[in-house]
Amino acid sequence: MSIEETSGVAGLARENVRRLTPYQSARRLGGSGDVWLNANEFPQAVEFQLTRQTLNRYPECQPQAVIERYARYAGVAPEQVLVSRGADEGIELLIRAFCEPGRDAILYCPPTYGMYGVSAETFGVERRTVPALADWQLDMQSIASALEGVKVVYVCSPNNPTGQLINPQDLRALLELTRDRAIVVADEAYIEFCPRATLAGWLNDYPHLVILRTLSKAFALAGLRCGFTLASPEVIALLLKVIAPYPLSTPVADIAAQALTPQGIDAMRERVAQILAERRYLIDALGTISGVKQVFASETNYILVRFADSGRVFKTLWDRGIILRDQNQQPSLSGCLRITVGTRQESQRVIDALRAEQV
Ligand SMILES: *Cc1c(COP(=O)(O)O)cnc(C)c1O
Repeated sequence: MSIEETSGVAGLARENVRRLTPYQSARRLGGSGDVWLNANEFPQAVEFQLTRQTLNRYPECQPQAVIERYARYAGVAPEQVLVSRGADEGIELLIRAFCEPGRDAILYCPPTYGMYGVSAETFGVERRTVPALADWQLDMQSIASALEGVKVVYVCSPNNPTGQLINPQDLRALLELTRDRAIVVADEAYIEFCPRATLAGWLNDYPHLVILRTLSKAFALAGLRCGFTLASPEVIALLLKVIAPYPLSTPVADIAAQALTPQGIDAMRERVAQILAERRYLIDALGTISGVKQVFASETNYILVRFADSGRVFKTLWDRGIILRDQNQQPSLSGCLRITVGTRQESQRVIDALRAEQV
């Protein structure tokens, strides 16, 4: 739809919504592949049985078992945990609770995850961007001079799609810089692949630090739609004011509670080990392909790769049913594709296709 369209029901929509480009999620992009390496999902389904048959009743807003088990897993107090419909809902709740439309701004540092900008745009909140440095670390000087009017700063670590951790000393400097001025959100969607890098231990020192987590990646539950926000009890209380009355359905809470038992967490750690071994294999194999210009180091379950002709690689693999994520549009990522680490069979399909086409 064009921006100019102002007649009919479309004309009734808010102006920023009419102008909005929705998030290009992996499923929205389509494709008829059978090897899905474009959404950083776990490649195999984990089985669960529903144990609760009380669907005549509304669910708890914040299911106690889920909150307590996640708090124990994350090493924080239950009062520091909010559960929501994926980490994406957490991103949005923060904007709704802290940003005045038309006045306040959020800040983030591309190349990074796309939903911070989309959520802000939906609410008519200014998106201020400070491009990352050449090594994709934070440009602290430019951030410091761009903070006027900023209420929420989003930092993704490890970063999607670059795969690397943000320097902890920069994160500390950012937290000092923003004290009493803005919320700093550390998006830890991939922290299970590098658990020692979590900032959860800093929560008690910084009441304006917020950490986002999810069951969608290492917990292999992207279809469940369940994520967590860790923060000071004051911030959690504010988010509880703006969250929907029943954000999680009873089956979601049921399965999330099972995923967070000690056995569920052990199984997650085994999956992480499997992915880390497969990541090594895929990185080594990509290094033998002539059209590969650079394979970037990764702390996650995906690998960013720069190709001599990424357009041809993307199309060639797409035609063979292998769907990757094109990152060309992001600043400083020309020629880059993001490849999710899947099964050995899936890695082999990628490598065979690249060899066969001599990309
Ligand atoms: C996948 C992802 C999310 C979204 O997680 P959901 O819980 O599935 O909404 C958030 N942030 C980053 C960086 C992600 O890659």
